[in-house]
Amino acid sequence: MKNIFSLSIIALVLFSCRENTSISVPEDRIETDTIVTKSQKEITDPKETEVWDPEPKAISFDTMNVPSDAIVLFNGEDLEQWIATKDSTQAGWTINPDKTMTVKPGTGDIQTKRNFGSVQLHLEWKAPDVLVGDGQGRGNSGVFFQNRYEVQILDSYQNRTYANGQATSIYKQHIPLVNATKPNDQWQTYDIIFHQPEFENGKKKTSGSFTVIHNGVLVQDHVEILGTTEYIGPPKNSPHGEGPIKLQDHSNPVHYRNIWIRELK
Ligand code: MG
Repeated sequence: MKNIFSLSIIALVLFSCRENTSISVPEDRIETDTIVTKSQKEITDPKETEVWDPEPKAISFDTMNVPSDAIVLFNGEDLEQWIATKDSTQAGWTINPDKTMTVKPGTGDIQTKRNFGSVQLHLEWKAPDVLVGDGQGRGNSGVFFQNRYEVQILDSYQNRTYANGQATSIYKQHIPLVNATKPNDQWQTYDIIFHQPEFENGKKKTSGSFTVIHNGVLVQDHVEILGTTEYIGPPKNSPHGEGPIKLQDHSNPVHYRNIWIRELK
């Protein structure tokens, strides 16, 4: 009798646990689970595997092909979105009549007034008009995320340097899959997906990542950000939050145009 009573208690506990488990299943799982269950019963109606909600928001494009949900950082008109990194005054790079801008060597890096977390960034750049220097000295600039993580910009067309420092390298961390750099008389595109690292209790909990498409070609395939992209020494991992996008003045007159960003929430 005592055994039967104990078994009944155990059964009750197990049953209530099962009930709790089913209640705590997230809603998005329920939909998938339902499809799996139905597939076991051989679905014959195509409608049973259609999901209609949420409906993706429709966006449009302007004449420069900028998505309507993007934040325009530079469209050729002005540098309103940018400040000088060294003293937070108005950015002083050169705006050209053809709606491009050029690094003004010696004025220093520029960065966005706004801070960003995880983002998709589009930018177009062109190496200096006159071929000067070699290696890291030819057409060097760079785009930094959260002021710390550099995707290298460099005239890497027939210009050898260390592989983890050439165009589209995650500087000193990841070598690009191919060298898709065009000659210095042509504009080039970077499309970059950046996921920020996450910190907890003063330590890195989840690494950030980069995916980079150069002139339409995948060159960094969701690579792990190991920490800050240091010129000397290993990456560092001090906790931080959102930060600006920064463009580097490496003393070479690199050109930019059509820069926009989409926040990934
Ligand atoms: Mg650089």
